[in-house]
Amino acid sequence: MHFDIFTLLPEIFPPYLDTSILKRARQRGLISVDVHNIRDYSHDKHHTTDDTPYGGGGGMVMKVEPVFEAVESVLGKNGGVPVILMTPQGRVFNQSIAQEFSRNEKIALLCGRYEGVDERIRKNLVTDEISIGDFVLTGGEIPALILIDAISRLLPDVLGDPTGAEDDSHSNGLLEYPHYTRPPEFRGEGVPEILLSGDHAKIEKWRREQSLLRTLKRRPDLLEKANLSDEDRKFLSRLKEEK
Ligand code: SAM
Repeated sequence: MHFDIFTLLPEIFPPYLDTSILKRARQRGLISVDVHNIRDYSHDKHHTTDDTPYGGGGGMVMKVEPVFEAVESVLGKNGGVPVILMTPQGRVFNQSIAQEFSRNEKIALLCGRYEGVDERIRKNLVTDEISIGDFVLTGGEIPALILIDAISRLLPDVLGDPTGAEDDSHSNGLLEYPHYTRPPEFRGEGVPEILLSGDHAKIEKWRREQSLLRTLKRRPDLLEKANLSDEDRKFLSRLKEEK
């Protein structure tokens, strides 16, 4: 899958993209990322990319021409590639949006700065708007990296373990079960016996129940949409009765 990033601060990207799983995914050709500096598409003497807002008030606004030129030079004018604006006003990112985006061969991510982008960019160039949560950051670069990370780990072969993302929290609508590794005892606290039993069917059942228990305690809202079996429902009713 290919990502085109449009930003005023390209230097933010390499340190993260050159690390760990994303680095390996790029080296193996599973993902590719091109970072485009919007400033390169501004042609006045000072390579201006922002201006004061019409109507007055503080802050600066990202200008329409360099952003259009950057995106159209790289992607062409015919559309076809999703152009996603990072904005606190977009739909809030989650695992199912990551899954939805992971089905594209190519996506473009547009990072805002200052007060954001001229509204005509949002109306006429952008195909989707994504927020990473109900708070405001100084720029869209970290949100863009969050999208690249969450999407890439869903692509085939990116994770070492091919089933690695399947049990992750939010993948099946539930939170994941707890994990333990060596040592078997730390400061007087052991590991659940069942995990040391070698009985895979029982471990599987315990993990499913822990996942349900955890979701019920921490995020009961998720259970309304989760895909639950009859056995899951019985277990949850028992838990609620005990409570
Ligand atoms: N004035 C804008 C507003 O109130 O909607 C906020 C602009 S913010 C200071 C600058 C840029 O950071 C935005 O254009 C966007 O690209 C990015 N940004 C900030 N918060 C974000 C969030 N929660 N999700 C995605 N992008 C965000």
